[in-house]
Amino acid sequence: MTHYEFDLIVVGAGAAGLMASIHAAERGKSVLLIERNRKPGVKILMSGGTRCNITHACSNREIVEAFGPNGKFLHSALAKFGVQQVIEFFEAEGVETKVEDTGKIFPVSDKAIDVLEALLNRLRRAGVKLSLCESVLELDRTETGTFLIKTDLRTVEAPKLLLCSGGKSFPGCGTRGDGYAWAEHFGHRIIPTHPALVPVTVQEKWIPDLKGLTIPDVSVRVMENGKALSHRRASFLFAHFGLSGPAPMDVSKAIVKHSTPSQLHIELDFLPDENEQLVEETLKQRSLSDGKKQLLNILPDQLPRRLHELVLQLAQLPLDRKASGLSKEDRRKIVVQLKRMQLQVRGTLGYEKAEVTTGGVSLDEVDSRTMQSKLVPGLYFAGEILDLDGPIGGYNFQSAWSTGWLAGGSI
Ligand SMILES: Cc1cc2nc3c(=O)[nH]c(=O)nc-3n(C[C@H](O)[C@H](O)[C@H](O)COP(=O)(O)OP(=O)(O)OC[C@H]3O[C@@H](n4cnc5c(N)ncnc54)[C@H](O)[C@@H]3O)c2cc1C
Repeated sequence: MTHYEFDLIVVGAGAAGLMASIHAAERGKSVLLIERNRKPGVKILMSGGTRCNITHACSNREIVEAFGPNGKFLHSALAKFGVQQVIEFFEAEGVETKVEDTGKIFPVSDKAIDVLEALLNRLRRAGVKLSLCESVLELDRTETGTFLIKTDLRTVEAPKLLLCSGGKSFPGCGTRGDGYAWAEHFGHRIIPTHPALVPVTVQEKWIPDLKGLTIPDVSVRVMENGKALSHRRASFLFAHFGLSGPAPMDVSKAIVKHSTPSQLHIELDFLPDENEQLVEETLKQRSLSDGKKQLLNILPDQLPRRLHELVLQLAQLPLDRKASGLSKEDRRKIVVQLKRMQLQVRGTLGYEKAEVTTGGVSLDEVDSRTMQSKLVPGLYFAGEILDLDGPIGGYNFQSAWSTGWLAGGSI
């Protein structure tokens, strides 16, 4: 029998590739992990604003649900390595974790580097050979069913191959979608890809004036002809180009997948816990009790002053007007801006700034119990290369850890 230097070659040292390599090597496999970057885990380091939102405090079933119809593919992976196992994995390596109010789980240190170091320590102990600054260029299969991996440095052969090369988003991180062409070469179908979890651009000229304004709880809707295509309530950030932060990014998929995004509107509700009647009634009361104050000073206290100014400008009401003169019609105009502010969509910032890629290797052709290709024995997939993308909140890493762990354990 031919002896190969490595039982398994893993392409891509991101979340999925690192986890898969660790698990395979701990089970006695000799593993070569190839990464084009100078450093492994670049996205881990930049994730969650360099704090790394490792996973989400919820049940495995809720993780499945967060991924929509494709989420059921994750059942087996989560059963083997779910939210609890991920927490235990990192805590065993000395990374204490905490749950924030939003349910997001971070290292207590707020340092993504601690998460990466934990993985790298375990990778070393497991004896994985990590090769950095090496780009995989081409893959092939020999007549005996082994794999030939051609890189910019050499050609290596191994009986098993795991593709963890990620998606196309943030191409500056090394993720340029190379894996899709390889998967297609092996006969796999690729579900068309789009950027997802991406900041949204809008047409309003005043947007740059609001740059940097964050509001913790906003309900964001993507609207087409009065119908909501997507909806999310979470924190929100005005950026110089448009809208960023969890709520706009979570609804961005509906924009990216639309044939003419400029036909869409974003509708913003800055007071999602109050109905319009209540907001109007409160304004009426305050205009009576604080009639001598300027209009600007009777708007909801929980919202920032820069937003108050914007609301009055869009309602075409002078900022310095006395509250006592507020007519019913003017009240309505203010309520509309607070509860249903309309922005005209331009598009998104695209792959350059997308946190994930939607689409990818079709799940129909991958065995969810092992992550092995149903078409090519010995070929495996894990992580974002698959047609899986979840919302903001640690779901995408959870999917990468789980599918990686399962693949590493099945090989
Ligand atoms: C700015 C940002 C913040 C994020 N924050 C979070 C967060 O807080 N929580 C969360 O759950 N998710 C977050 N995500 C999403 C998360 O990073 C991804 O879902 C996750 O990294 C996917 O893991 P992966 O291992 O499948 O792919 P990746 O992490 O993308 O790793 C793929 C690796 O393959 C390598 N590679 C590709 N092609 C080749 C080749 N030809 N040769 C050699 N190597 C190659 C790449 O260089 C890369 O290192 C964030 C993403 C971004 C961009």
